[in-house]
Amino acid sequence: MKKYNFNAGPSVLPDVVLEAAAKAIIDFDGTGLSLLSISHRTPEFEAVLNEAQSLFKELLNIPDNYSVYFVGGGASTQFFHMPANFLGTKAGYVNTGVWTKKAIKEAKRYGEVKVLASSEDKNFTYIPKGFDIPADLDYLYICANNTIYGTEYKADINSPVPVIADMSSNILSRPIDVTKYAVIYGGAQKNLAPAGVTFVIVRDDMREKVVRELPIMMNVNTHIENNSMCNTPPVFPIYVLRETLKWMKAEGGLQVIYERNQKKAAMLYDEIDRNSLFKGTAEKEDRSAMNICFVMSEGNESLADEFMAFAKDRGMVGIKGHRLVGGFRASCYNACPVEAVEALVECMQEFEKLHK
Ligand SMILES: *Cc1c(COP(=O)(O)O)cnc(C)c1O
Repeated sequence: MKKYNFNAGPSVLPDVVLEAAAKAIIDFDGTGLSLLSISHRTPEFEAVLNEAQSLFKELLNIPDNYSVYFVGGGASTQFFHMPANFLGTKAGYVNTGVWTKKAIKEAKRYGEVKVLASSEDKNFTYIPKGFDIPADLDYLYICANNTIYGTEYKADINSPVPVIADMSSNILSRPIDVTKYAVIYGGAQKNLAPAGVTFVIVRDDMREKVVRELPIMMNVNTHIENNSMCNTPPVFPIYVLRETLKWMKAEGGLQVIYERNQKKAAMLYDEIDRNSLFKGTAEKEDRSAMNICFVMSEGNESLADEFMAFAKDRGMVGIKGHRLVGGFRASCYNACPVEAVEALVECMQEFEKLHK
């Protein structure tokens, strides 16, 4: 049976990328060696790394005064790397769910944390807006897309202080104005690569703003100065990342991917709103295009398990909602094809007919 992969992360990658990765494990770019057994200091691998960086810059339209580096440890490591580097006295955080809560907890080890706004009052079903950003903060921290609750910032924030953003689950899903951010980072396993590589994009002026003496591997300057090669970088995930970026470019670039993502999200949200058995959980204006959360509508709660089994029989994978939200979550990342969303919509329609 054909499977439709809606996993939240690690998640779906394009078939051509998987094929290239499989081939490289046997014979890396014609070297006669496996990608898994080469030195990361070979010219062949350095070319892969450099191409991944330059494609990242090209696709996201990253200006020249920014560096892009790749490192292990996941987004969770950046939760403490960011305040370790940049929190001298006081930082502002917007609390939009589990991932910002974790980031706030880590930041408190390094300085004062002001939670400028929070959507906890409504179980993080919306993005707080219109909050004040004091000019004396070292930085403002946000999570651009809340993977668990399906909420997303639709506009880049105007801030008087540097903005640090976790974009783990919506990086390269839509165009952004990179100049509005001082640092953008994320685990690449949601939208770009297998688990194991984290991307970090740092504006040049931040390099002088490191506030304390740090272990070598914690300092952003280490990774920039050594071009992601201070130690052994995650060779295989970086290779797959490059393949994904090549695929994105071949598809027509970020604008094309963005329009496709908008189309997929609209199809699924339209069905959630139309179908009497389901309802969305996130505030409409803040709905994520990447992680689409829904539950059974009032009076139909008891059909949840039946729908899960029904969808599974039709090849849907990974649509169980996070335990903090319940219900269902379809993650429609870049590599999730339109036909997968069509199949899910059809499945919801058939299920409705069964219960009419
Ligand atoms: C998954 C996720 C994380 C955690 O990423 P790891 O790489 O597993 O540490 C952090 N932030 C967001 C928004 C995520 O979706």
